Amino acid sequence: MTLLGPRRPVREPVPFLDLPEAHRRIRPELDAAWSAVLDHGAYVGGPEVARFEREFADHVGVGACVGVANGTDALELILAALGIGRGDEVVVPTNTFVATAEAVRAVGARPRFVDVRPHDLLVDPAAVEAAIGPRTAAVVAVHLFGQVADMPALDAIARRHGLALVEDAAQAHGARLAGRRAGALGHAAAFSFYPGKNLGALGDGGAVTSADAGLVDRVRVLADHGRDPHDRHVHRVSGRNSRLDTVQAAVLRVRLRGLDADNAARRRVVATYRDLLPESCRVLAVDPRGEPVHHLAVVEIDDREAATDALTAAGIGWGIHYPIPCHRQPAFAGDGPPPSLPVADAAAARILSLPCSPGTTTDQIERVAAVLADHPRRDR
Ligand SMILES: *Cc1c(COP(=O)(O)O)cnc(C)c1O
Repeated sequence: MTLLGPRRPVREPVPFLDLPEAHRRIRPELDAAWSAVLDHGAYVGGPEVARFEREFADHVGVGACVGVANGTDALELILAALGIGRGDEVVVPTNTFVATAEAVRAVGARPRFVDVRPHDLLVDPAAVEAAIGPRTAAVVAVHLFGQVADMPALDAIARRHGLALVEDAAQAHGARLAGRRAGALGHAAAFSFYPGKNLGALGDGGAVTSADAGLVDRVRVLADHGRDPHDRHVHRVSGRNSRLDTVQAAVLRVRLRGLDADNAARRRVVATYRDLLPESCRVLAVDPRGEPVHHLAVVEIDDREAATDALTAAGIGWGIHYPIPCHRQPAFAGDGPPPSLPVADAAAARILSLPCSPGTTTDQIERVAAVLADHPRRDR
């Protein structure tokens, strides 16, 4: 005899990000894309790479694009191609994925971390300007969570001080500000195609976009062993190997066709969160000049631990991006005590990323909202 507990309605878990679901919808196109690569055999540098570079540049609305191995390399190669290195400082928001700062370190420069704005947790242009000194060579604007940073303000600052302005667009494929896309708003932009990004490969991938074709050519040479574009046996500079695989380019061409629709679906998901979440969850503000792509659905909440416990108990996925700001990471402790960056420090304890995929349903969002509406709060 089996002993049965009280019957409860079976509730499917709510995944934080449902990649298999996203790929099931386009499975026939993916199958055709990678079979073509399997058959033609040009697994590195095949025709799909140049086609994707052209199509992605057109989507961004910029002259040139080169595929690379991942988003971190994209950032590092831009800085190297700009001639930034030892002795230079690069201004970086502390609220970002650590890769932004790692790329600065990788070229021998020093990241100078600055604070973010309380309403959207994007880099604060006033803080950028205050951090500029005699060694500053560049500013990296991070379009975090799928929203473009205040590029008009940052561009004015960069021009005033003669600095390069680099976009970290790893979370912002397709996002717009004042009608222009992320990737077309600075001197050069780095994209990541890590599987979980809005435009994701089935493995690692990245790209650099720029209106400056010469800069993109320098990145292309550096990323392919410093090879002379006209004679593959001549290595003009000591470069490295950082290429976008043909099979990933083939997958990305398929996924790029659905990117705008996927991003529109993400905007509907976040709009529904705004409607349904309780007062205690503040959804980050959106710039009225912009069109975000909501790589992540981030809220601020008072008692995060109680909320995450309740979500986990209900089978709902969640994340924190990021619990430790870069200026407090042990990896960057060598430059002395961390500066006080109070907005990012306060936000780190309050931010919570909720399930957000193009396929997230209203029913799923209602379940998240219900759990957050009555999660037990500690007395304050
Ligand atoms: C993902 C990410 C990167 C790094 O991209 P990889 O492809 O994982 O190397 C850089 N910056 C930000 C903001 C990211 O989210």
